[in-house]
Amino acid sequence: MSEPAITKAPPRVALVVPCYNEEEVLPMTLPVLLDILGKLTERGLAAADSYVLCSNDGSRDRTWDIISRFNDSDPRVKGISLAHNRGHQNALLAGLMRARRDCDVSISLDADLQDSPETIFEMMEMYHAGYDIVYGVRSDRSSDTWFKRVTAHGFYRFQRAMGLETVFDHADFRLLDRRALDCLSEYDESNLFLRGIMPHIGLKWTTVTYRRSPRCAGESKYPLKAMLSLSIDGITSFTAKPMRLIFLTGLVMLLADIGVGIWVFTAHWLGQTISGWSSLMLSLWFLGSLVLIALGIIGEYIGKIFVEVKHRPRFHVAEETKN
Ligand code: UDP
Ligand code: MG
Repeated sequence: MSEPAITKAPPRVALVVPCYNEEEVLPMTLPVLLDILGKLTERGLAAADSYVLCSNDGSRDRTWDIISRFNDSDPRVKGISLAHNRGHQNALLAGLMRARRDCDVSISLDADLQDSPETIFEMMEMYHAGYDIVYGVRSDRSSDTWFKRVTAHGFYRFQRAMGLETVFDHADFRLLDRRALDCLSEYDESNLFLRGIMPHIGLKWTTVTYRRSPRCAGESKYPLKAMLSLSIDGITSFTAKPMRLIFLTGLVMLLADIGVGIWVFTAHWLGQTISGWSSLMLSLWFLGSLVLIALGIIGEYIGKIFVEVKHRPRFHVAEETKN
């Protein structure tokens, strides 16, 4: 690896790790992350008081005991514990907001070492090169099962088709500097989908690729049901396109009514119909399109309300002149 061009003083880094029932993996993960912190400090990429922050998501096993035990022997392992299980996205946000109190850079990664910790060096180099956000992007998914690969890619494509802007094959392995964390703190929505918020923020961003390894121990806490609900949260929290599709379907049906009308009248005049069929067919199609158009119009208003109630920041200022 080439030596980085360091332009800033070593920043205080927080490696933020959401943990839910991770007693099997934490005794392996924490020493690896502490070792990475040590190397970052040696290379001048991070300050000596950088730390690992575990965000315990209401685990029911010995996760919190393990975090506390590590903290007793090394204060570079810190933790917060949520009062009960609120899901990965909330646990991660809680960790990031805690880290924002006293760090310059946060890097979020999973507890199971699937997000290659070696990539952290590259992310820090990008930070020193002036980037505010660095997305970890999977270069391949060969370690995932066939099913997980197909469903995950399917979700990304579907989300994109529905108008949700995300970084392809990026989950939540990312570096955020203080500026990005400050922007993130302005979003107070409760249906959290961090992957959607980050591109919304903008700032100076880049990606680094990494190979995703298999889980080092334990089982996935993201079954298909949780993935589905996250994906739906993503779409419904960021885009009103599905509602616009209702309106468009209504318009297309209204156009199709002309064809249906021609067909019905021809059949009627040729005497191929029974009594009442023609009027029923015409009213069915015409009313159907009107109902869809009406729903679409209501949807447009609901879409506006949905944007307003989130009270998202309208913009973030990236630069200002000095004088
Ligand atoms: N996680 C969490 N709360 C939950 C579920 C998961 O904090 O309700 C954490 C988990 O401990 C891990 C990360 O989120 O650090 C990703 O979970 P997992 O590795 O099980 O997901 P997968 O990699 O299988 O998609
Ligand atoms: Mg995992």
